[in-house]
Amino acid sequence: MKLAIKTKRLISPLKEIKDAVILINGERIEAVGRQQNIYIPEDYEIKDVGDRIVAPGLVDIHNHGANGYFAREGADALQEVCTWLGQTGTTCWMATIGDPEGVRGGVEAIKRGTQGCYVPGIRCEGPFLYPKYLPGESTAPPPPADEKTFMEMYEAGEGHIKIMDCSPDLPGGLETIKRIRDHGIIAAFAHGNAGYELFMEAVECGVSISTHTYNVMTGMHHRRPGAVGGALTCDEVMAEITADGVHVHPVAMDVLIRCKGLDRVYLISDTQAIAGLPDGDYDWSDRIIDGEYNWVGVKLRKENGIAKLMGMGPEIDGAISSSCWPLKKGVQNMVNDVGVSLKDAFRMGSLNPAVAANLDHELGSLVRGKRADLIVIDEDVNLFMTMVGGKIVHETDLVAELVY
Ligand SMILES: [Zn+2]
Repeated sequence: MKLAIKTKRLISPLKEIKDAVILINGERIEAVGRQQNIYIPEDYEIKDVGDRIVAPGLVDIHNHGANGYFAREGADALQEVCTWLGQTGTTCWMATIGDPEGVRGGVEAIKRGTQGCYVPGIRCEGPFLYPKYLPGESTAPPPPADEKTFMEMYEAGEGHIKIMDCSPDLPGGLETIKRIRDHGIIAAFAHGNAGYELFMEAVECGVSISTHTYNVMTGMHHRRPGAVGGALTCDEVMAEITADGVHVHPVAMDVLIRCKGLDRVYLISDTQAIAGLPDGDYDWSDRIIDGEYNWVGVKLRKENGIAKLMGMGPEIDGAISSSCWPLKKGVQNMVNDVGVSLKDAFRMGSLNPAVAANLDHELGSLVRGKRADLIVIDEDVNLFMTMVGGKIVHETDLVAELVY
């Protein structure tokens, strides 16, 4: 398909263009610029979206599932997640899976090709995570991060694992971070009790991502800066943030942006299967809720867009489980709660995650040669159209919120 989309406002997101046009040829962007500067060949269909904004599709590199399905539950389940994500404005996601069997399903989905949202690879948040030791859980020492387990994951991935998380405080953790890097995979710091010094050792071993910054890591005290202090101050590391408005206070998000700068922070959804389902009680006793915790027998209550643990004992019932909101909500929160511009919020939701995942040569911004992954929105980030690889996968004229 050859399509020219005209708009009064395009966010690239490194710049804004007034009275813009973007030419799409097949799955790639052919040209972007001001209408007065770009010739539209006759064989291009023209679509004028008027006041609506053309922006890059959102790139979610930390997402365990949505729409009733976990990323680990095989290729068909993964496709269901893709379908829903496209309807929320996410055009690319990294299927986040923590076990070899789940990884094999992810590989199958990637080989088949997905509709609705592009899957460039797999992220493994798990199995190398320091246990949370929730009340009532076993307090057995953590399993070591060993070469055998790594190789099992690596081989299951057939080259499609792009990011792997690891807690450096696990036995063998630092060695595993080096091993991850030596196998050409991006290493992310995640979960555990590592303080500032160990955080920085992990960076020396090759960590370049701080996973869901502030959550499940040691906080900052003025004499013990903790992993948060490392994430805030070390420029080698890009900091991801769950911007659903529940996991991190807007002021903490503001501090992060002020410390890191607009180019070193990116948004993630960190959703799981409950995203996209209506409020209610969910009994997932027979499913592994999330590779990262290896939890079975979990019940959740979703209320007002927040998922909480249920039926697991009085000490942990009510604890927040993973997020329910797609990345679009994070962009809205950045604008409404933190006060960043729409352009900069898009930078954190599209280009920056693409940079962190080493995908920015291919996607993450609206420039000539990249994938035609874009969305059409209004000022409030209501979504009207999603295009993935040059194909329109979602289109509506209604300002109707999906169930998140
Ligand atoms: Zn996590």
